[in-house]
Amino acid sequence: MKTLPRLCTNCILPETFPGVTFNQNGLCSHCQKADGKATKLSEDKRKYEQKFLELIKQVRMPAASQRPYDVLMAYSGGKDSTYTMSLLKNKYHLRVLAVSFDNGFVSDTAAENIRKVTDALQVDHIFFKPWWGLMKKIFAAAADHELYSKKTLERASTICTSCIGMVKSLCLKTAIEMDIPLIGYGWSPGQAPVQSSIMKTNPSLVRLSQQAIQKPLREVVGDAIDAYFLQDRHYAMTDRFPYNVHPMAWEYYHEGSLVEEIRKMGWVAPQDTDSNSTNCLLNAFGNDVHIKRHGFHPYVWEIANMVRDGVMTREDGYKKIYDEPQESFIALARNKLQV
Ligand SMILES: [Zn+2]
Repeated sequence: MKTLPRLCTNCILPETFPGVTFNQNGLCSHCQKADGKATKLSEDKRKYEQKFLELIKQVRMPAASQRPYDVLMAYSGGKDSTYTMSLLKNKYHLRVLAVSFDNGFVSDTAAENIRKVTDALQVDHIFFKPWWGLMKKIFAAAADHELYSKKTLERASTICTSCIGMVKSLCLKTAIEMDIPLIGYGWSPGQAPVQSSIMKTNPSLVRLSQQAIQKPLREVVGDAIDAYFLQDRHYAMTDRFPYNVHPMAWEYYHEGSLVEEIRKMGWVAPQDTDSNSTNCLLNAFGNDVHIKRHGFHPYVWEIANMVRDGVMTREDGYKKIYDEPQESFIALARNKLQV
């Protein structure tokens, strides 16, 4: 067992995390700031749930009823997006189109889960798979050096950011092309705050965030990358820019009961992924590269947020971040990427 850096006595954020400081009780600067905000958080949750109900009324107006779908779900087959999709369909009664991205590392169990769950929920589904050589080149470059800004790497590994960047852009492009007014994401309450849980996409902001990913990737694979990002014709369709929503920010979140719920649809927990992913075989390797490069786990921000907000126990969070990495998962990814 290697020696760990000093950790916050409350939320498990390590001293190696950028910008963090500790008080004499060992409480990190983020926990000190968050103290006493619990009531505000639960008020905000109710506010955003209400806001979502209003938004649904708006997008389901008779004039819009010609649209085939209300929401495009970014569906990885993992536990969070599975649960989110079941909420959109069964609780909010939306017409859902699920879109999955095959990065070459979809666990077999996850692929099976995708088929089972979309059928159980009676949801149409698109599997989008970029050609493998392109993904391989991108992941190998990300394993070799940092591609994005410092701020990005506090929240996710470079490998993960590359993939998610393509996923988001693909979903947005598809929603604009098919005139789908909402995009659903399964962000956990630790990944994205409730204040960002309902956001209308804005063409000029989208252009900036797309460039932040597209430009570095163009350095790696040339203009082959442009096909996966928005083109000028998409930006011209300003009235079709959808809302991004991530309902788990205001829903009750508890990992155990969530998994119990989605099992009813035939969902099975994969045995071949690390404890921070229930769909991706590349995740453990991405985490390992990030820890070696930056000295902290790329999921620690998200997990620390959930521990601080009381949606995950400190013990469960600790296990996800500081238990020994499983070398077999890392070796599998290295082999496939030949790095
Ligand atoms: Zn803390």
